[in-house]
Parts: sequence; C-alpha cells; structure tokens
Amino acid sequence: MGTREVPEGRVFSDLLAEDRLFDPPASFREQANISDGGARAAAASDPEAFWAGLAGELEWDRPWDRVLEWETPYAKWFVGGKLNASVNCVDRHARTRRRNQAAIIWEGELGDRRTLTYWDLYREVNKFASALKSLGVEKGDRVAIYLPMIPELAIGMLACARIGAIHSVVFGGFSAEALRDRINDAQAKVLITADGGYRRGQIVPLKHDADYALRETPCIEHVVIVRRGDFPIRIHEGRDHWWHRLVDDVEAKCEPESMDAEDILYTLYTSGTTGKPKGIIHTTGGYLTGVCATTKWIFDLKDTDVYWCTADIGWVTGHSYIVYGPLAAGATVVMYEGAPDWPERDRFWQIVEDYGVTVFYTAPTAIRAFMKWGAEYPARHDLSSLRLLGTVGEPINPEAWMWYYEHIGKQRCPIVDTWWQTETGMILISTLPGVDRMKPSYAGHPFPGIEADILDDQGKPIEGQGGGGYLAITKPWPAMLRGIWGDPERYQQQYWTKWDHDAYFTSDGAKQDSDGYFCLLGRVDDVLNVSGHRISTMEVESALVDHASVAEAAVVGVKHEVRGEVPGAFVTLRQGHSPGPALETDLKQHVVNKIGAIARPHQVIFAGELPKTRSGKIMRRLLRDIAAGRVLGDTTTLADSSVVEQLKKQYEEGGQEE
Ligand code: ATP
Ligand code: MG
Repeated sequence: MGTREVPEGRVFSDLLAEDRLFDPPASFREQANISDGGARAAAASDPEAFWAGLAGELEWDRPWDRVLEWETPYAKWFVGGKLNASVNCVDRHARTRRRNQAAIIWEGELGDRRTLTYWDLYREVNKFASALKSLGVEKGDRVAIYLPMIPELAIGMLACARIGAIHSVVFGGFSAEALRDRINDAQAKVLITADGGYRRGQIVPLKHDADYALRETPCIEHVVIVRRGDFPIRIHEGRDHWWHRLVDDVEAKCEPESMDAEDILYTLYTSGTTGKPKGIIHTTGGYLTGVCATTKWIFDLKDTDVYWCTADIGWVTGHSYIVYGPLAAGATVVMYEGAPDWPERDRFWQIVEDYGVTVFYTAPTAIRAFMKWGAEYPARHDLSSLRLLGTVGEPINPEAWMWYYEHIGKQRCPIVDTWWQTETGMILISTLPGVDRMKPSYAGHPFPGIEADILDDQGKPIEGQGGGGYLAITKPWPAMLRGIWGDPERYQQQYWTKWDHDAYFTSDGAKQDSDGYFCLLGRVDDVLNVSGHRISTMEVESALVDHASVAEAAVVGVKHEVRGEVPGAFVTLRQGHSPGPALETDLKQHVVNKIGAIARPHQVIFAGELPKTRSGKIMRRLLRDIAAGRVLGDTTTLADSSVVEQLKKQYEEGGQEE
C-alpha cells in the first residue's frame, strides 16, 4: 500500500483503507421505524421544524414559544415550553396499554431478578419523590447518587426529575475521594447510596466508602441507603435513612413539578480519559427530545423489543440510553448489575438468551475482551433473538467490528456504531439501521438535523479524500450541553475557542469517505507526528488488532531524534498466543503491510492489561507518560493502578528497541 503524503491542510494522514460494505438485511429494512433517507434532506432544509416535530412526540404541560435561541455558546431549545421528564418516561406509559409492560427487567450478579412494569415504576418513583421532599429536597437542589446497577438507581434519578432536583450520578466503582470531589463540586444536599453491591463475586462496600467521603462533604444533610444485601454498615443517626423505611412513611403520590424546558435535569462528569473530568450540564426539553428520537431512529425500538445497553448508568450512555431515551420511548429495558465474566465468560450471552434480548448495545472495549476470550462463549447460547447491535465509547477497530458482526450478530444484525459524548447528550453520528449500508469503523452520517464537519487548524472544511481533521459540530442541537457546572470559562475555552467562527470543537479527529461517512480517528491529543505525518492512533491500532494474535492495542508517540516521534505499541494477546521476539517482529511487519513503513512500531510491549478508565476506555496519556519516563498525570479515573505500575516496570526493563 505504501506511504501516502498528507495533502496540504490535512490534520491527519489517511492511512488505512476499508472497502467492506454491508447492507442491512431486507427483513430488517421492511420493519424498521425509519426505512428511507428522506428525513435527512427534510431535516437539513429546516432543522428547527424537524426538531419541533420530534419534540411534539413528548408530553408537554405548556407548548414552547420558540424552538431555538442561539447566542454562542449558549443554546435555549423549546423556549417557554414546560414538561416533566419523569412524566414523559413513566406516567404517560402507565396511563396506556403499556401499564403492565415491563419497563425494567433487572438481574443481579447473584442471579436474583426483579421486573418493574411501567405501573410499578410509576408507584416507586412517586413514593421516592415524596421521600426526597420529606427530606427537604426542593427544585434546583442537587442530589448525588452513588449506587450499584440496581433499579433504585433509575428510580432515584426519575424521582429527582419529578420534583425538579438536579441529580449528579457518580459511578459506583469510583473511590471515596472521587465521590467527595463530585459531591462538593455540585454542593449536593442529599446522597443516595447502598449498603453495598456485587462485582465479580466481591462485595463493593459503597456505604463504607461513602462514609469516608462524607467526612469532608459538609453540604450533605441527608443520606439515603438502599438495602441491597444486608451488609453490615454504620448508621449515622439523624443523617442516614434506609430507603425502604422512608418510602413507607410518605404520600404514595407526588405531583410532578412542571419544569421549564431549559431547567437543569442533571449534571454528569466526563470519563476523564484525557484529563480532569468536567461536570457537564444537561437541561430538560431539548435533551429528552434528542435522546427519545435517537432511541427510536437508531435503535429502532418498538414495544416488542427487549433492549439491553450494558453500560453502567454512572456514564452518560446509561443516562441517555438506559434511562431517559428508552423509557421515554416506552421500551422494555434490561439492566444487569455485575461483570461480564461472572461466574463465567458467557454471562452476557446467557442473559441475551434468558430474556430474549433483541437490541444489544455495548462498547468496543467489551467486544475486544470477548474476542480475547474466544468465540466459544457466545457459541454456547441461542442468540437468535438479537436483531440489532450497537457500539459506543471508542473507535471500533474493523477486526472487532467483523467479530461482533459474525459471532454475535451471525451476519443477520445490522450494527450501529454510534459516535457521541457526555457533552453531546445524544448520539450525533450513526448509520440509520434500516436505511444505510455499514462500513466497519465508519460511524456513518450525522443524525438528521445535525451538522458536522471536518475542519483544519484554520477552521476551513477539509474537502474530499486523502486525510482527516478535527470533527466539529457546526449547528446547535437539542441535547447539547449547556455548560460546565461552576466553570463557564472552561466551557468557553474547551469547546468554543478553537476557531474564530461558531463551531463546537469535539476534540476528536475524523475523516470522511466519498459517501460522506465519518470515520473517527481518535482523540486529537493522542495523534502521533512521525516525520511530519500526522498518524491517528486508531489506524495503527486497527492494523495491530487485525493480526490474529492481538486482542487490543494502544499506540502512542515516543520521542525520536530524527523522526520527531515514532509509534510505540502496547498490545494484549488473544487466548492461546504467547509473546516473544518473533511475534514482535511479525507485528511490526504486519503494520508495515497494512499501512506502510511510516507507521511501523518502534517497539511492541506485550501487556497483560492496558490502562483504562473505569468506563473501559484506553488511557493513552498514561502510556505516553510511561514511554517518556515521566511522572504519571492524573490517575483518579484509572480503573486499576497496578496495570500502569506493571507496564512502567516492563518499559523500564526495556522491550527490544531498534
Ligand atoms: P474526558 O472528556 O474527560 O477526557 P471522555 O471523552 O472519555 O472523557 P466521554 O464523554 O465518556 O468522556 O466519551 C466521549 C468520547 O468517546 C468521544 O469524544 C470519543 O473520543 C469517544 N467515542 C465515543 N463513541 C465513539 C465512537 N462510536 N467512535 C469513536 N469514538 C467514540
Ligand atoms: Mg471527552
């Protein structure tokens, strides 16, 4: 294939070609919610009318006066409109024939089960909303939620939404320090937690950890504790309350607060892959419109579906596509508490088979773990209920895409590769599964009504083929963030100052093919500069993952006297392969064959694990620190600190360098 020069103005070189294309099966197309691309043109010619049409599918207490007010960098959507998110996700379904349909089917790691119909959910949300009120929580107050993946997590969020309190969910796997900082940043008045949870057979002592945090969170007045497992905990009299006792003593009904479309629904911190997490603000009307519409159009959800998103609700994926989107759409949602490899590596496939999951949404990091473990695990189960698959969180390497398509979807299920961020609130780029052809590693077109572009350093669109640039969103969208909690300057600085015209800077690189499909190239902070070629991490990593032995790869730039930087690779191997000098040579040659000599890794480190955030994303910035022999940067969002210690040691002892 050889090396291609980077054409003038390109920010990224275009190295890896992909020409596999897949059509959605005719049987899928025929039943799809959206089966022709006409909506795109209509939305493009009048986006405000398009969004207003979708907002109209929600239940409003008062209609809006204006669809959009935009004054960079602040948008107001559905100005003057009033609605309540919990009414939209629960009450309006409980009034219809969906009343006795399962809203949430929950499975604990131990195998315990609970099913909440929309009517059950209605009752639980009402009771807990009354309980929050009894603790003095009012509209605009912040409530921190630190729970395992149990139904009370969704109930707690919806109860906050019902009374107009702002929830701030902190992922249950975070440490006491991380919880403390997030509580203090939000100045939360109440914390909702549990006596504990289960993860990989171990008890996660949430209340115990929360007690540590609570020593330094003077803003917290009350703590509500869900009894998950009868784990021993300390009760702080006057401050701590059992959830089940609280709800016994309150009104069974709680009138919903009629919220302004622009009232804050929640704040949530980003994953911290690139640096210190930001408390992202989302409001009510636009957000709900965006997540409900994308749920129906991209996941093709219907009443008959059993939908499972494997993310934790502690991340935005869980907020938008476990709670608000699917429930607003009236779907049946599966929720699972535990790990994918507990008690065995087929747990997910067991769940798919048991509940007859039809739509399955997970992350590339999970797919690469499944590949590493081997195809025999999904093969043990009947996965024939599945009809649509999705991914989110990182670029998906073509090899992982193909594995997912073949071993999970059995070549029957379209895959939606959905690009979005905590900040965007909703999916912005994805194929529409009943309309578009699929191309591995290409997310597809922007969602109808969304305008995205690929810009160079000057903010000029990069036309045509042969390279990539910065992904920018050039028009406001309904679910967009409304700021960073307590830090308007950082909001402005981070997203709106890259260019001197109006465009949201995503911090991601992308390229486009001749059909206008977007391929995400990784984070712009991670780009390598080798002899003047700007190389995307995604492309070199994908070339490595393409090798039969490699499960995961992370590539970072390592300083080099002559070439500026050279690629340094960290890889984990699939089951049954062992590291060694011969394999290292082989991997380097494989990259040369796939991409060209320019991308040849200078060094390959065989790792047991790669450093990841708690949401499973590879943290290349820590690998860069290791490769440069620097002190490690912020590690608070790192899932397992022993991983970097081990890699540091390995790196210092030296792989074979050339
Ligand atoms: P931080 O901003 O704090 O560093 P983060 O960016 O990891 O954390 P999230 O908002 O959870 O926090 O992740 C959004 C990012 O995930 C995107 O900007 C992109 O880099 C990556 N991403 C998400 N979905 C996709 C996808 N389908 N393809 C490629 N990349 C994706
Ligand atoms: Mg980010």
